[in-house]
Amino acid sequence: MMKKHNFSAGPSILSSEVFDEASKSVLNLDNIGLSLIEISHRSKEFVKIMEEARELSIGQLGLSKDEYTSLFLQGGASTQFLMVAYNFLNQNAGYINTGSWSVKAMKEAKLFGNVHELASSNDKNFNYIPKDYTVNDNLDYLHITSNNTIFGTQFHEIPETKTDLFTDMSSDIYSRNIDYSKFSLIYAGAQKNLGAAGATLVIIRKSMLEKICREVPSMLNYKTHVDKDSMFNTPPVFSVYTCLLSLKWLQKNGGVTEIEKKNILKSTLLYDEIDRNSQFKGFANVEDRSIMNVTFNLTDESKKEIFDNLAFEAKISGINGHRSVGGYRASIYNAMPIESVETLIELMKKFENLA
Ligand SMILES: *Cc1c(COP(=O)(O)O)cnc(C)c1O
Repeated sequence: MMKKHNFSAGPSILSSEVFDEASKSVLNLDNIGLSLIEISHRSKEFVKIMEEARELSIGQLGLSKDEYTSLFLQGGASTQFLMVAYNFLNQNAGYINTGSWSVKAMKEAKLFGNVHELASSNDKNFNYIPKDYTVNDNLDYLHITSNNTIFGTQFHEIPETKTDLFTDMSSDIYSRNIDYSKFSLIYAGAQKNLGAAGATLVIIRKSMLEKICREVPSMLNYKTHVDKDSMFNTPPVFSVYTCLLSLKWLQKNGGVTEIEKKNILKSTLLYDEIDRNSQFKGFANVEDRSIMNVTFNLTDESKKEIFDNLAFEAKISGINGHRSVGGYRASIYNAMPIESVETLIELMKKFENLA
């Protein structure tokens, strides 16, 4: 079967090697005569999967095992919105509001303390990353959304701050080579750039565990999960396994340094075409453009059906924009081959010639 060019924002594309290995494991994990999804999560086979996944998740970001630990939890990034605040918002937290996911994170945090919106790009429908703001000293933490999946903006400069910096990295984790040690806590739903839906990766500086500021129910307490090696209760085994396979794939392909080069190349090709082509205009502010989610609109919205039909014929899937932005969004995560991006670009050229 000829697969489609998959530009879905999430759940989204994984490498074909990951799909092959993951599929095999459902029938027969490493030739043990049992399926990955029918064995105990306490079996030596799965314990090894979890250990390797946790180790690689930290190592691939260039972080040290002495300083950081990682967890594969359930509940999605949406549960992290409340968990970070439940554990660490004692009095005041700062949030940079760069879109819907930041808004949702702030809503949950407000249940636990004062949420200071230090800056917002709401005035322009979140098409940029705010840069002028001051971070007061009295904050328990500062929270950012490093990549705004819906709007196609991304923090290219990570804020410098003395307070603990937290980030929702659901849609750009492992996509670029930055100094991850600037963060005290990183979380990401697996389903955008890492694996099958189900697991949520949390990377936490170990010293944060001493800063948990109130009594927190076991399942929502980071310390519970760290103490139990991310096996306090049954983990989402299939999702964790796909994360491990993706991390191994990443490692084999040169890690975040090499993948960043490819991601910059893919996104530059696409943005160059958007800027050149008379039929399209980019949505996000040029200097804040995301290398993962490329948002763009038609200059003439009445031609939408024509472009949509062409895309369908070219086996291009998942490019419809989020309803709050309209137009199109091409999600070009780590596993997206450059050929698919080139196919989209050819289509945009063909569309311009028809117009
Ligand atoms: C998709 C997404 C979420 C929501 O993730 P869930 O795992 O569905 O809760 C949160 N933040 C960002 C940046 C996302 O892209």
